[in-house]
Amino acid sequence: MSPKDLPLRLTLDSAALVANWRWLAGQGGAPAGAAVKADGYGLGAREVVRHLAGAGCRDFFVATWAEADQLALPQSVSLSVLHGARAEDMDAALASSARPVLNSAAMVARWKQVAAGRPCDVMVDTGMNRLGLTVEEACSGLLDGLNIDLLLSHLACADEPGHPLTERQRAQFVEVAGAVPARRYSLANSAGACLGPAYGFDLTRPGLALYGGVPHPAAQGHIRPVAAIEAQVLQVRDVLPGQSVGYGATFVAQQPTRIAILNLGYADGYLRAFAGRGSARLGEAGCPLVGRVSMDLIAVDMGSAEVGEGDWLAIDYRLDEASRLTGLSQYELLTGLGSRYQRLWTE
Ligand SMILES: *Cc1c(COP(=O)(O)O)cnc(C)c1O
Repeated sequence: MSPKDLPLRLTLDSAALVANWRWLAGQGGAPAGAAVKADGYGLGAREVVRHLAGAGCRDFFVATWAEADQLALPQSVSLSVLHGARAEDMDAALASSARPVLNSAAMVARWKQVAAGRPCDVMVDTGMNRLGLTVEEACSGLLDGLNIDLLLSHLACADEPGHPLTERQRAQFVEVAGAVPARRYSLANSAGACLGPAYGFDLTRPGLALYGGVPHPAAQGHIRPVAAIEAQVLQVRDVLPGQSVGYGATFVAQQPTRIAILNLGYADGYLRAFAGRGSARLGEAGCPLVGRVSMDLIAVDMGSAEVGEGDWLAIDYRLDEASRLTGLSQYELLTGLGSRYQRLWTE
């Protein structure tokens, strides 16, 4: 069976990906890199890198060395490993052209011991209290002797307009940037890039918004959807009044109802939170989900729409809307998509 024959598709719009990247660079007033960790937020990191590198993106970010190894990167681009180099990572790090993002004093010491002159990146914590050196550590001379390409920090609340921590983090970052020599400085993720050039520094690091997530109200109407889900109809059935559909019999037909069973379920990242809220479309016709989401299947009410086995339905999956409906984050909606989709990039 050709992979083209899979009953579940993710259509990926490379023009939208590139347009989102360009828009983010314009907003941040600085070149934009791309966070491609978690397999390009579930869309496929290799293809994401290919399209963005082709458009001129020069800086990519993954979480781990295993992710770095999965990418076949062109020579001309730079790759940073956000989780740095644990003792267990040193062999991989020394064999790789990617740079570790050194996050702790122990990591800095380890890197200095083995690879002092080699380019590295450094993360400073300015208020998120996740990864990174404290501002005091960064300014203490601990970093003397390192060859720092990118000095970075990460914003905790940039997606919440007006949150006071965001400006405090920026001020802290300006202070550290003045004290620690590096080739370039970077603070902003997707939401941070939407805050304008004051947050852009030398490079922004968007992830979510590249892939169609709306990270901040300022991005509404500018970020284009990238991923579209289509699922095939495996069976059509007519359910009589009083009959139920699916696990738990949570949907009971009030009238004769035509139901299509689609090849999509929670194992494909279409989580149970969509029950009672999700919908699909056949052409113009909207088809609400009925009953629970199964592991591999959902059922939709076709109303009066003509449908047959083998037809394809588009699943309503605009990230901002789906997030509002389900309470799942846009990040979870993307990164959970899983491996059973045929991923089809439009060139
Ligand atoms: C994931 C990540 C990003 C990208 O964040 P988005 O909110 O997806 O834009 C940027 N920087 C760091 C350090 C990250 O971990």
